[in-house]
Order: sequence, then C-alpha cells, then structure tokens
Amino acid sequence: MTRQTTMLNAYTPGTGHLSPDDQALAERRAEALGPAYRLFYETPVHLVRGHGVTLYAPDGTAYLDCYNNVASVGHCHPRVVEAMARQAATLATHTRYLNEQILTYAERLLALVPRDLSHVMFTCTGSEANDLALRIARAATGGNGIIVTDNAYHGVTLATAEMSMSIGPAVAPGPTVFPIPAPSAANYPQGIAAGFAQAVAQACDRMAAQGIRPALLIVDTIFSSDGVCPDPAGFLAPAAAAIRKAGGLFLADEVQPGFGRTGSHFWGFQRHDLIPDMISMGKPMGNGYPLAGLVLKPEIIAEFGAKSRYFNTFGGNAVAAAVGLAVLDVIRDEALQQNAATVGAALADGLRSLARRHEALGETRAAGLFIGQTIQTNGTPDPARTNRLVNALRDNHILISSTGPQGDSLKIRPPLPFSQANVDQVLTTLDRLLGSL
Ligand code: PMP
Repeated sequence: MTRQTTMLNAYTPGTGHLSPDDQALAERRAEALGPAYRLFYETPVHLVRGHGVTLYAPDGTAYLDCYNNVASVGHCHPRVVEAMARQAATLATHTRYLNEQILTYAERLLALVPRDLSHVMFTCTGSEANDLALRIARAATGGNGIIVTDNAYHGVTLATAEMSMSIGPAVAPGPTVFPIPAPSAANYPQGIAAGFAQAVAQACDRMAAQGIRPALLIVDTIFSSDGVCPDPAGFLAPAAAAIRKAGGLFLADEVQPGFGRTGSHFWGFQRHDLIPDMISMGKPMGNGYPLAGLVLKPEIIAEFGAKSRYFNTFGGNAVAAAVGLAVLDVIRDEALQQNAATVGAALADGLRSLARRHEALGETRAAGLFIGQTIQTNGTPDPARTNRLVNALRDNHILISSTGPQGDSLKIRPPLPFSQANVDQVLTTLDRLLGSL
C-alpha cells in the first residue's frame, strides 16, 4: 500500500495564491526551518490570533477551526491563560522540590482513570510519554517487541518514530516493530473485534519466530491517523487480552481522543470497556502549553523504578500543573464532554443526511467530536477529491484536514466548545461546495 500521510494536505512551495507578504513569509520560513517542515493547504493560512473556535488572519478574516484538538477547551481560554500567568509569576520550578501544585493535579488526573492505574509521570510531549512507556514495558516484560497499526503515529523520538508508520518509509518500522492492519471493516470483513485480536496474536507468533518477546501493543484508541476507527465500541478488549496472553502490555495512547473528546467517555479506551496497563496523554492536556504524561499500574513500574530514576526538567513543572488543573476545571465547569457528545452527534447526523444528496460523502465514522468522513467517487474512496474539498473549505474559511493511509477521509476534530451554529456553518458550506466538486 502506498502511504501518502507524509504529504497529506501539504503546501507545495511556489504554488497556491499567496499574497506577496505571505509568499515572503513562506520563503523566510523555508530558509530558517529547512526542508522537513510542511505547511497545511495549497495556499497556507497565516494566523495571528485565536479565540474560542475561531482563528484570525492578519487582516481580521475569521476561520472556523474544525481541526484543533490541542486548544481543545478553546483557543486562548481566559481561565487557562490566567492560571498559567499567575503560576508563572509565582513559582516556576521542576519536580525535585516539595510543592503541592503537582500533587493536586496528579490526584485530580488519577481520579479520572480506573483505580488500578495509580501513578502518573509527567512529560512535555506525547512522544516522550510513549517513549517512556516503551522503556518501562521493556523493563516490566523482558521483551522488546512492539505491535502498532499500519498507519499509526506515536511520536518523534527515535523509538516512537520507528513505530509511526504514517511518517513515511524512511523511518518506520523499527526492527522490533510489528505493524498490523487498522481495525476497519474493510481490513476485517469477518468481524473487527475477533480479527484485530487475531492479528495481534499472529504478530506475537511472528515475533516468536524471530526470537523476539512481546513488550507492548500500543494503539491510538480512536485510530486517528489510520482514518478514525471508533466502531463497534468494545472491539479493542479482545486485542488487549491477546497481547497480555503473550506476555506483553496494552498501552492506550490517548493523545488524540482523551480529555472528553469522544463525548460518551473521558478517555477513548473507555468506549471499549477495558483497563489498559498504561495510558499516554498529551495535546489537549495543556490546551497549548506543552504538558503530557503517562498513567500506569504501579506493579508495571516497580522494576524500572528500582533501577532507574526519572527526571524530566520541564515535565510536570509548577506552571504545567497549574495549566493542567485549569483545563480540567474548564472541561467540568463548561460541560465540554457533554457538549462533544451532543454537538458531535448533530454533526455526524448532519453529514449522514447530506450523504443522501451528495454521492461524494461515503462512510461517517464518529465518536463525539472526532469524525472521519470518507470522500468518494462512484462509491470508491477518492483522495484527490478529498484534497480538493479540504482546500475548498479552507478558501471558505473552514479549517479541516484529511486522514487515513490514502488521505481519503476528512478528519473533523474541532475544539470542544463547538456549537450547533458552528455545525450548521460546516454543513451549509459542505452542501454548497459538494455540488461543484
Ligand atoms: N500519539 C498520537 C496518537 C499522536 O497523535 C501524537 C501527535 N500527533 C503523538 C502521540 C505525539 O505527541 P507529541 O506531538 O506531543 O509528541
């Protein structure tokens, strides 16, 4: 299969219809940042300000953000900004001093996960959390085999890039990484739950044949880069059982679905009625402040903790803890998980009814405010048409992107305060654009 994710929705220098000022900025950017960076869209968007679900260009043009799960409680949320500024003006130290802030935050966070997972370790990025999880899993199991999905993304460190097939063929997979097909109906026509669990068991057999012992099955529990695979709820439980049977651990990567986005639950894995051995989290955790972490069962870290110390200079610093607490307060006080459930369902329903009039709209895969929408032509998923639609939406001031190994689905993942009026704007614009694409 050809993977296109490295180039999904990417700007090609010299194309598009940039203003002379923005053209100069793009060139300056390429000069300073070098060739590995990508800008979104055929004509990149220049942003200077954000508020709620809206992003603003220098001339004041407002864009509806349908893609941002970092500023998940809304761009520049005043309570989060205030907590950040207050703590930065009071004390900004790392975790090697006694300070209550980090413990208050840790305890609040742990109260949101199953009781069996009673430790949390803080990092700055999701990549670091997954990298740490891998080290801990190796120590706990004595194995080093890792199972990931075919088009997974788990991070930028050496180890996590080698288990991130979506980055591109130059870096993945590492020698102990065993990719399996993503849990879609197309990949497992006989049944996703049994098929995916069997794929895990078979990957363990392939490891055994090479003298490798399993350490970890790691999945993004909404399978975001694989194209969004939420259903049927519960399908992940047999896969978690399969890796444990082979002596490995199950890590729920909640960097994408965590913190209420899937609506019915706070974490993506909870839709599957299972208890992970470890949970990694990041992105929405700090609403833009670099805050991430790993929650785990105490017995898993006993061996690692006895032999190694853990210190992350910035991870869990006092400002990070204040920000993390403010984010949890906002999610609770503004009922954002409930909003994700109701507004997400309205958006998914709206897409499904639009599909009756527009053949371009194929399958809608949704959990709360996480939606994968296949774009097709004559019933066949169509990456080029998806790309045209993403760029047409951008030109109509709606920011969205694509996903999946071929880039044939819209990935709709707005900040959680998304409203019914925002849903109407998306559906009306799509209705208009689909007629001509
Ligand atoms: N896991 C998943 C599922 C992700 O989507 C990402 C980031 N896109 C990461 C891990 C890595 O997080 P970070 O970029 O904070 O290192």
